Amino acid sequence: MFSPSSPPARLLEKVFQYIDLHQDEFVQTLKEWVAVESDSIQPVPRLRQELFRMMALAADKLRHLGASVDSVDGGSQQLPNGQTLPIPPIILAELGNDPKKPTVCFYGHLDVQPARREDGWLMDPYTLTEVDGKLYGRGATDNKGPVLAWINAVSAFRAMEEDLPVNIKFIIEGMEEAGSVALEELVRREKDRFFSSVDYVVISDNLWISRRKPALTYGTRGNSYFTVEVKCRDQDFHSGTFGGILNEPMADLIALLGSLVDSSGHILIPGIYDHVAPLTEEEKKMYEAIDLDLEEYRNSSQVKKFLFDTKEEILMHLWRYPSLSIHGIEGAFEEPGAKTVIPGRVIGKFSIRLVPHMNMSVVETQVKQHLEYIFSKRNSSNQMVVSMALGLHPWIANIKDNQYLAAKRAIKTVFGTEPDMIRDGSTIPIANLFQDVFQKSVMMLPLGAVDDGEHAQNEKINRWNYIEGSKLFAAFFLEMAKLH
Ligand SMILES: [Zn+2]
Repeated sequence: MFSPSSPPARLLEKVFQYIDLHQDEFVQTLKEWVAVESDSIQPVPRLRQELFRMMALAADKLRHLGASVDSVDGGSQQLPNGQTLPIPPIILAELGNDPKKPTVCFYGHLDVQPARREDGWLMDPYTLTEVDGKLYGRGATDNKGPVLAWINAVSAFRAMEEDLPVNIKFIIEGMEEAGSVALEELVRREKDRFFSSVDYVVISDNLWISRRKPALTYGTRGNSYFTVEVKCRDQDFHSGTFGGILNEPMADLIALLGSLVDSSGHILIPGIYDHVAPLTEEEKKMYEAIDLDLEEYRNSSQVKKFLFDTKEEILMHLWRYPSLSIHGIEGAFEEPGAKTVIPGRVIGKFSIRLVPHMNMSVVETQVKQHLEYIFSKRNSSNQMVVSMALGLHPWIANIKDNQYLAAKRAIKTVFGTEPDMIRDGSTIPIANLFQDVFQKSVMMLPLGAVDDGEHAQNEKINRWNYIEGSKLFAAFFLEMAKLH
């Protein structure tokens, strides 16, 4: 019965049965959690209270499962207007500490983006409403549903009085949507205490790229954000009085910004592609296997034509190649009407999405040298200053790691298919933080479908994703135990 390729089959079957039988209870708990307006974005005392209530609910739930729970005081947050608001506690909880078992740390968040019925919701965003198997409500997929799915999986083992196959640690925060205030400090502080025994980290806070096919996420792009200031003087000029006798800062800046990327999306900064990881045959195959309806993707994006025609090229240019985007110009005249101003000082803003194995400080030097060269060719009398305002590293995991193998097998068991191996084109600093601080494998194991609409109106999670996702986590625990 204990064949090497499948987990203890009878136990798994029992767990699945338990989850199926109790699915209405699981949906009911999700409903109770969605009912808490745990909005971390709007700095309103009432909403902060709701956040505290949300964290207390979750702590209670975990205690109920037998976990030892520590609600770590988050301190307070000073807002730009001088107001001070308390930061909700971060939950550190622990279930089991058997040295023979692997220890898996689960990260999730229970705060949500703002939502009001008037924004275009078809129902009250804080009343979980089921329509055609879709559970609508703010936070249903981001991230209350996935957090509960993990808890549901644990509760199934608990209810059947079965030994948990792995030791579990939870880190659950309530400020993710507001930039995870206080999280990094806590993670670094607890590195050698609470987190010292952690072998693996699982984050379930993103989406599949398909409606029906599950995915595993193994990388995200980073970002280097630049400003380039061109200045003649602090005040603006009138073009009738000064036009024709000046090196105009805006003309310099447009030339500088225009030198960064060509019309095929290729970045023109010399050397920028030098360190980009070469594409392997194995990687190419992974892209071919991904389930993406290009036509639907194009239509839902409302874009007539992308720079690339094939699914593989599009995904690679979103995930594994760098891109450069021009974001804006501070100091430019941008109102309606015809004002004959010559801006005296303008600041251009652009950023480069970084991929493995680009080096941020090398990129910074390349950008500065390139812009200095372009600027010098213009013989302008203005001053130019280039700065890197923000730098976030890309993240990439080793997909041959045990937990990726375990997750793949669990997905196969629950969904009967191999997962799409995907990355994310944006930056998810939390994955990098965990990998950087713990030096352990980090995996993003999403449960929600591509059309869940996180952050949008009518956010939902499908009942199917929520319940099968709970089974997926249970199967994952068993696979992890076997591989260990
Ligand atoms: Zn989230």
